[in-house]
Amino acid sequence: MESGTATQSSEGNGASAPPVDSIEVHNPATGAVIATVPVDSPEAVAAKVARVRANQAEWEAMGIEGRYHWLGKLRDWLLDNQDRVLDTMQLETGKVRADASNEPGYLADLINFYGSRAASFIGEESVRPHSPLLAAKKLRIQYRPYPVVGIISPWNFPLILSLGDAIPALQAGCAVVIKPSEFTPLGLTEAVEAWKHEIGGPDVFDCVHGTGETGGALVNAADFVQFTGSDRTGRKVMARAAETLTPVSLELGGKDPMIVLSDADIDRAANAAAWGGMMNSGQICLSVERIYVEEPAYDEFVSKLTAEVGRLRQGVDDAGNPKDVGAMTSPNQTAIVEEHVADAVAAGAKALTGGKRVDGPGDYFEPTVLVDVDHSMKVMRDETFGPVVGVMKVRDADEAVRMANDTRYGLGGSVFGERERAEQVARRVECGAVNVNDVLINYFAMDVPMGGWKQSGIGFRHGEPGIKKYCRSESLVITRFGGKREPTWYPYTKGRRALITPLSRFFGARDWRRKLGLKR
Ligand code: NAD
Repeated sequence: MESGTATQSSEGNGASAPPVDSIEVHNPATGAVIATVPVDSPEAVAAKVARVRANQAEWEAMGIEGRYHWLGKLRDWLLDNQDRVLDTMQLETGKVRADASNEPGYLADLINFYGSRAASFIGEESVRPHSPLLAAKKLRIQYRPYPVVGIISPWNFPLILSLGDAIPALQAGCAVVIKPSEFTPLGLTEAVEAWKHEIGGPDVFDCVHGTGETGGALVNAADFVQFTGSDRTGRKVMARAAETLTPVSLELGGKDPMIVLSDADIDRAANAAAWGGMMNSGQICLSVERIYVEEPAYDEFVSKLTAEVGRLRQGVDDAGNPKDVGAMTSPNQTAIVEEHVADAVAAGAKALTGGKRVDGPGDYFEPTVLVDVDHSMKVMRDETFGPVVGVMKVRDADEAVRMANDTRYGLGGSVFGERERAEQVARRVECGAVNVNDVLINYFAMDVPMGGWKQSGIGFRHGEPGIKKYCRSESLVITRFGGKREPTWYPYTKGRRALITPLSRFFGARDWRRKLGLKR
């Protein structure tokens, strides 16, 4: 079997014992083993990177339109195979169908966005020299791709957070190797296999499988690293990349606040909090995790939020029986969620709905609303990454902003209220993106950058920075005309030396007395 190709077993048939150098993939909704995936050794990772590197120059030479042609075929494949893609995704994540359904559409949109904008984002730029001393020069900037981008991704959105970063990198002209999460490698492998065999795309795109060791090997081999995951692992990736001075872009965790002002539409705010907190079982870096409500609106908001969350249907999802909230994808995360809720309850918090792990089979945590919480509790301080929100009453907007910013994270946030007032409050929240009267939507507004402040990351995806980061700028300073020598070159004759000081004074000074040397 080719390294990196998953063998999928039909669910629950008791897959045969995997070889030692492989990982088992489970369906979190049932606990059944659904596939085994061979692990790539560090040598295999280096060999794959070397192979795609060898083809990168040809890929770069195709130009923006040539590469968009191939990415357009990937878009068509994703749209034509939506059901297959979503089936695999549901199987390996335990998501409900509605939560999985966002991924192919987002990726198609992203391909079109960067395909149509790449020329304006990374096309060659012509720059006018700022100084008359450079009038004889033509200035150009060209953007050349890093040869190989290594992408390391998490398990919560297996395609958006892997292919979604590969798309701008490929559009920029890089070759790409992805290491998906060991919990969710199947959907991405399917897409890479499709690129190679069904689409017949150029050999500049591959994936490798394994855990931290494989990720580390990819950091060693790549020319640029795009990492999405926890801040704990992000630190390790950055430290390792520092050894080879490899640039990194880190999309890390969040603890996103939502502020509800007293003049908000409380129904909309409560429905948004329920969806923004529970969508994908709360396993979104941009999930609503903490809610601060101005005193006059607190009781109504809490009661409407509790009712909305209490109504959510949880479980295995199928066409005839849709559900709202799916499984937890990683068992480690369920343990963290349980710990945060227990820590809060022990310190006096109250669960108005939910509050505990659901008995098996499968890995589920009840959609939970906590009140009587404060910032001494893990649930208000650390990333919970589960279907849990903590709600606090605040005196006014100033206190809400102070509490919202009282965090080591700074990924996203949201403010609900009368539009102008909410917008003013949103401008004071310290994070990469704030939604006004909506939640999570900034991820789909790919026109503007998305990334973290503080310990939520370094660098941005989406918008112009989301593709430019995969390029190195090369400045071209081209002499249009000139004699045998420039006035500043050798020999340093008396006459030339005498020229340099008055000239630099003339062009540097901003008033005539200094230009003419009348003031010293
Ligand atoms: P994780 O940090 O445990 O793992 C992420 C990836 O890193 C996995 O592929 C893993 O195998 C790999 N890895 C582990 N150790 C490594 C090492 N030493 N060197 C290189 N690679 C290594 O994160 P996770 O549990 O998969 O994902 C959840 C986290 O991701 C949450 O903190 C969440 O907030 C974050 N996240 C951030 C964003 C964002 O855009 N900011 C988006 C989604 C998820």
